[in-house]
Amino acid sequence: MEVKIDKAILALVQGDITDEETDAIVNAANEGLRGGAGVDGAIHSAGGPAIMAECRKIGYCPTGQAVITTGGNLRARYVIHTVGPVYRGGTKGEEALLRSAYKESLKLASEKGLKSISFPAISAGVYGYPLAEAARVALTAAIDYLREHDDITMVRFVLYNRGTYDAFSGALKKLIG
Ligand code: ADP
Repeated sequence: MEVKIDKAILALVQGDITDEETDAIVNAANEGLRGGAGVDGAIHSAGGPAIMAECRKIGYCPTGQAVITTGGNLRARYVIHTVGPVYRGGTKGEEALLRSAYKESLKLASEKGLKSISFPAISAGVYGYPLAEAARVALTAAIDYLREHDDITMVRFVLYNRGTYDAFSGALKKLIG
């Protein structure tokens, strides 16, 4: 599904984020930027070693922050690596950290002059964030950013499976009434 937020398009699609043609794709990384399972592994294997070479130079990214590297062999020119929180019951500041991961990624895209960006469902895999909540926080962060800034014209959420897509579309319908 697709909605307009001011002049920008916010789209939900089911698919593999490594196929995206937006200016940047976002990686759900870990603090050590070491790669790993899930979407992180998929991005490094599709993008090739140039991405990890830049990650090693950067070295570290705190939870809730974001860094940017080349997109290597991907269609996207850049990968923005952000670190979502590990879910520990919801009382350890998880929501603010997850919101920050999205916001800092969008800020980096703006600083680079990028127009389009694709996100996975950050923290909703191995990091254990409950899916419906992860979707609400993700979409609220994107909508708030698009309402406050007019440089980014396209935000896509690329959801890997049907359950994730349904959680995001359910949350979006609630948010936009
Ligand atoms: P985290 O450690 O932040 O939880 P994961 O990679 O474990 O990150 O999961 C985040 C989300 O990314 C999950 O919803 C998972 O299904 C999804 N995912 C895994 N591979 C891909 C891919 N190639 N494209 C898009 N999403 C993916």
